[in-house]
Amino acid sequence: RNRTGPLPRRIASHKIPVDRISRSAIRVVESLQKANYETYLVGGCVRDLLLSRIPKDFDVATSATPEEVKKVFPRARLIGRRFRIVHVRVGREIIEVSTFRKQIGPNDTSNYIEHEARDGVIVRDNVYGNIDEDAFRRDFTVNALYYDPANNTVLDFVKGMQDLGSRTLRLIGNPKVRYQEDPVRILRAIRLAAKLDFTLEKSTATAITPAGETLNVVPSARLFDELNKLFMSGKAKRAFELLLKFNLLGILFPLASDSTDLVTAALHSTDQRIAQEKPVTPGFILAALLWNPYQSQYNSRATIGTPQENQFDAARTVIREQQHTIAIPKRHAFFMRDVWHLQSRLERRNPRSILPLLEHRRFRAAYDFLLLRAKNAEVEPGLVQWWTAIQTLNPTEQQEQISALPPQKKKRRRRPKRENA
Ligand code: ATP
Ligand code: MG
Repeated sequence: RNRTGPLPRRIASHKIPVDRISRSAIRVVESLQKANYETYLVGGCVRDLLLSRIPKDFDVATSATPEEVKKVFPRARLIGRRFRIVHVRVGREIIEVSTFRKQIGPNDTSNYIEHEARDGVIVRDNVYGNIDEDAFRRDFTVNALYYDPANNTVLDFVKGMQDLGSRTLRLIGNPKVRYQEDPVRILRAIRLAAKLDFTLEKSTATAITPAGETLNVVPSARLFDELNKLFMSGKAKRAFELLLKFNLLGILFPLASDSTDLVTAALHSTDQRIAQEKPVTPGFILAALLWNPYQSQYNSRATIGTPQENQFDAARTVIREQQHTIAIPKRHAFFMRDVWHLQSRLERRNPRSILPLLEHRRFRAAYDFLLLRAKNAEVEPGLVQWWTAIQTLNPTEQQEQISALPPQKKKRRRRPKRENA
């Protein structure tokens, strides 16, 4: 192939802690190099290594086509529709191998068979290219660094090292165009700025709000994936502040209210749990985000069905509405619904349902949610203290506490259905 693009800066003095690189990733690079394909580690792993962070996963970029990669690793799997990539499994690890490719603009008709663009949005881009073209189709300069373990050098086509040094997140190319091509880059900008504690370069930042509405064209499943990463990044509170700053909340969560204290508290607690390596779920954050809409839905039904029916209808309505923008997987939707429904049971403290509640598989999550609501002055502190205490008691002491509760008012009778007219 003819080289037309710019020459890279080849950097030999860098701070990559070689012992932090996955042995499996190095083995994959070496095997492809041995088969005479130009091959590097690339993307988030190189960025994270240079920042002395532990990479989440290792991505490999190569001149070999997916079919050629498969010849080198016969048991590898070809996956992906949007991008065809190869998953090579080494032991327990999966290394993602992608072929150098270029991004062609919507007006570029060369290679049109493999490339489709609609309204400037890139739908598929499987046009193979050179390494420099591969660098320019990536999102941020710090994500476009290539590391060759064979000679321990970094290749930099886009001044990524400089931005890494000044902790700057800068889109490659014209931000307006790059966000339009793939609006998910907006969320990636926010997530990575928060996660790495980087500053968004000026035009990378100012182009976000005007491009916000284009998030509506992103398939709802892809939006969920990206938001899930954002919420589970360990820096969700900061990322959420950026979503608010750039006016994106109303686009992603049209029902969510302006009072976001409960959400901020949920994000903060999620970030803390991640720091302590405790389990977390996006369902908890989604439950907080949509708690006010759920309550308004519930209250607007007060005169229609039984409280239980109204709870189910309210949850179903709110979640269904939200699914228009973000595809919340079923298990998370059930989680949200359970946490919401359990709130009223925790508040009611019916003596007969205390023990079953303590055994409920979502009790812990619902109790954590109640704690946040108490911090937000939505429930009496005494109620939370009671639930905190009862969990520490032995069965006899629990019985004592339960019998000391005031007897419940008679169960509300089902109201007759309203008649028409
Ligand atoms: P993380 O730490 O979350 O893994 P990452 O930068 O590695 O961050 P990935 O989703 O693993 O994110 O993507 C790997 C690389 O692929 C990126 O570093 C970037 O070079 C490129 N990339 C990913 N998404 C896009 C996109 N939407 N547009 C352009 N390039 C992208
Ligand atoms: Mg990655």
